[in-house]
Amino acid sequence: MGYALPFLSKRQAKPTILQRCRSDEATRARLKYNPWYLHIEKQEGTRVWVEGQEMVLMSSNDYLGFSHHPEVIGSAQSFTEKWGISTTGARLANGSRTFHTELEERLAAWMGKEACFVHSAGYISCMSAVSAFATKGDVVVVDRNVHSSLWSGIGLSGASVERFAHNDPFDLRSVMSTEDPDAPKMVVFEGVYSMEGHVARLPEIMDAVAGHNAFMVMDDAHGMGVMGPQGRGTAAHFGLQDGVDVICGSLSKSLGSVGGFVAGSREVMEYLRTHSKQTIFSAAISPATAGAALRSLQLLEEEPEHLERLWENTRYYKQLLAEIGANIWESETPAVPILLGSKERVYNVWRGLLKKGIFSVPAISPAVPPRKDLIRTAVTAAHTREDLERVVEAIAELCRKF
Ligand code: PMP
Repeated sequence: MGYALPFLSKRQAKPTILQRCRSDEATRARLKYNPWYLHIEKQEGTRVWVEGQEMVLMSSNDYLGFSHHPEVIGSAQSFTEKWGISTTGARLANGSRTFHTELEERLAAWMGKEACFVHSAGYISCMSAVSAFATKGDVVVVDRNVHSSLWSGIGLSGASVERFAHNDPFDLRSVMSTEDPDAPKMVVFEGVYSMEGHVARLPEIMDAVAGHNAFMVMDDAHGMGVMGPQGRGTAAHFGLQDGVDVICGSLSKSLGSVGGFVAGSREVMEYLRTHSKQTIFSAAISPATAGAALRSLQLLEEEPEHLERLWENTRYYKQLLAEIGANIWESETPAVPILLGSKERVYNVWRGLLKKGIFSVPAISPAVPPRKDLIRTAVTAAHTREDLERVVEAIAELCRKF
């Protein structure tokens, strides 16, 4: 028996993880355009500064402008003074604080659910909203375009997966009809799709799954605070809160904070608290971010003008975009994509916008479906009409140029 020459052995043929990091083509391709992880030196509301240049922020999800609302900031400060920076541990072992339970009761009531659990990130909430409930032997039927957090939950669950065409209840119906009627099923979708700005066709989705005993999980990260009466979310918009078993989402959009939530019936949430690894083993949401979210919820209830301004701005922005013939993928919400059709065009327009002092987000395939390369913009209540006019003027000029 001779010695295996290291360079001939199969083991050695595979690069080590460190070598993979050094030579990975995808990393190089992604960094080539260099629009990612830009360094922002300063922020004041809808204004950010990059390399000393003042820019209009069109990339945030701060739909109501609450992240810079003085009362929201004040609430975060007073919760920090009272409770400290962190609870430094998970609630199962370290206990729930009054502000956790208060926030959960308020959120549950807000969404028309019995109970709620908050986590330190929306990603954790959405991942656990799937992985806590679905398991091996189940079938998860999922909209193709859902957020990465939900795919992570599906991956962890061990359930088998069937995709349905984006926001297409007819395709959902046909997928459901081919599934084993005895297998427990979960249907996963979003209330508002953040790249597309589409609203879930909830009544038709419910129709399509009727009679299949499907457990419905809706991520309403971008619908919460935007859709429905007082911003109570997409299910409330359709008056269908009871039809969705679990609503999950993020506190980092309309509520201007950080963290996430899962809401459902008391039984379902008790199951989550005792089964979800992310819930059991991750440190609790911080006092400051919980305090900020609590104040934002109160503002939604007491000051309807923020939501009204958001929708006024959204209508105005879309009207301007229609006048220049921009393709906005039929967005129905303040999340407004500008479809440009190729990576190069997206890069050129994005770079041109940056030079003109407009901070937007480029999204290219595979982050979006093929030929749907786009620039994502989002309207907030804090933008002025002049901001929106300036943005559309710049988009028109750059689209003509490229
Ligand atoms: N779901 C959706 C639809 C999202 O857009 C996001 C954030 N981009 C998340 C979940 C995760 O939320 P967070 O950023 O709070 O972790």
